[in-house]
Amino acid sequence: MFKRRDDLKPFESKVWLSSPTMHGEELKYMAEAYESNWMSTVGVNIDMVEKIAAEKSGMKYAVGLSCCTAALHLCCRLAGERLYGKPAVSHGALEGRRVFCSDMTFDATLNPVVYEGGIPVFIDTEMDSWNMDPVTLEKAFQFYPDVKLVIAAELYGFPGRMDKIKRICEKHGALLIEDAAEAMGAAIDGRQCGSFGDYSAVSYNGNKIITGSSGGCLLTNSIEDANRARKWSTQSRENAPWYLHEEVGYNYRMSNVIAGVIRGQYGYLEEHIRQKREIYERYREGLKDLPIRMNPITTGTEPNYWLSALMIDEAAMCRQVRGEKRALYRSEGGKSCPTEILEAIGSINAEGRPIWRPMHMQPMYRMHEAIGRKGSLRCRTNAYINEIGCVDVGADIFDRGLCLPSDNKMTVEEQDVVIEIVKRCFE
Ligand SMILES: *Cc1c(COP(=O)(O)O)cnc(C)c1O
Repeated sequence: MFKRRDDLKPFESKVWLSSPTMHGEELKYMAEAYESNWMSTVGVNIDMVEKIAAEKSGMKYAVGLSCCTAALHLCCRLAGERLYGKPAVSHGALEGRRVFCSDMTFDATLNPVVYEGGIPVFIDTEMDSWNMDPVTLEKAFQFYPDVKLVIAAELYGFPGRMDKIKRICEKHGALLIEDAAEAMGAAIDGRQCGSFGDYSAVSYNGNKIITGSSGGCLLTNSIEDANRARKWSTQSRENAPWYLHEEVGYNYRMSNVIAGVIRGQYGYLEEHIRQKREIYERYREGLKDLPIRMNPITTGTEPNYWLSALMIDEAAMCRQVRGEKRALYRSEGGKSCPTEILEAIGSINAEGRPIWRPMHMQPMYRMHEAIGRKGSLRCRTNAYINEIGCVDVGADIFDRGLCLPSDNKMTVEEQDVVIEIVKRCFE
């Protein structure tokens, strides 16, 4: 157990990983929805959010939806129908098709593949960027030249070279779905994240860089696809004097009240990015003498700094064993491990989180294929480097990394205490 020393008192109000930061305009637009009685999935706020989301991302069209997961689902269906044609009513658009997916990400990135009957194949992570490894992706296309769809996420708002991923997709005649849920406002060579996919999605979930409490947008340059997604999201009603349905639909449309919150938040995206950047830089400076590195910034990219994360050097890891639901570790002088640091952060009433547990390590995806630079990640036993030399980068980052409290309302003094408690873990 980590022992907190008494001179560091727990914060009176919790310091969160990343919580909503409101400014006032949100309430104004919500009130407008209320006063005009557009308390449904139609209204000016939705129109405005779609306009702003498209402008900011550099895509031509945005479709306002209930969440980013719904957006990714419609991305999958659009891509599937474009690639393989329209499925029978009882099948999904990706039925029986392999799809290359980011491995170290939130499961919402690729669950929608399964909604459409597809089979996720996981692509290992690149150590230098913590994002999908382009080298492994290229290799995966050698194994499976028939694959026609890739879903890649930008981790924690620190993009890798999504442009490179896109070029690899083009070379192999595959479409790209970009999950920019965590990366709104981040850029690669000056080009906004969310604009690299044939279809992309952003999120306004409560802990993202800006929020509507929930919500998401699908982004595309095709007006036909935007209109189809919009129609599907409102139960696929055809233009007829009665309820006429030619296709399966969903109830995925964004609420005009929530759109009011998002509309109010958009003007603060840059401010939030600035604050998150300062947080990241203070951690980097404050922790620079420890045997750790911060989550990497890839050359040519501008992160939105959504979550600050760190990874402990291999030589400075104390022993840690993670089972399915529990973790054990042994404290050692000069060393630490994520479990100890997360406990320490929790002891002062702050919130840290483990790195996304890679998808190939999830019970529900355990039988799926997962590809790394040296071949299948399935050749791993428990360690991330096993006896026949498979290197599983995602498992390694999960093992040695963690997310630090990154709330933009955290004060400098509070962050100093977090930095101090992390340092003590290595004493
Ligand atoms: C948050 C998140 C999602 C899901 O967003 P929702 O709006 O909550 O559905 C998808 N992918 C990634 C990488 C995320 O972080």
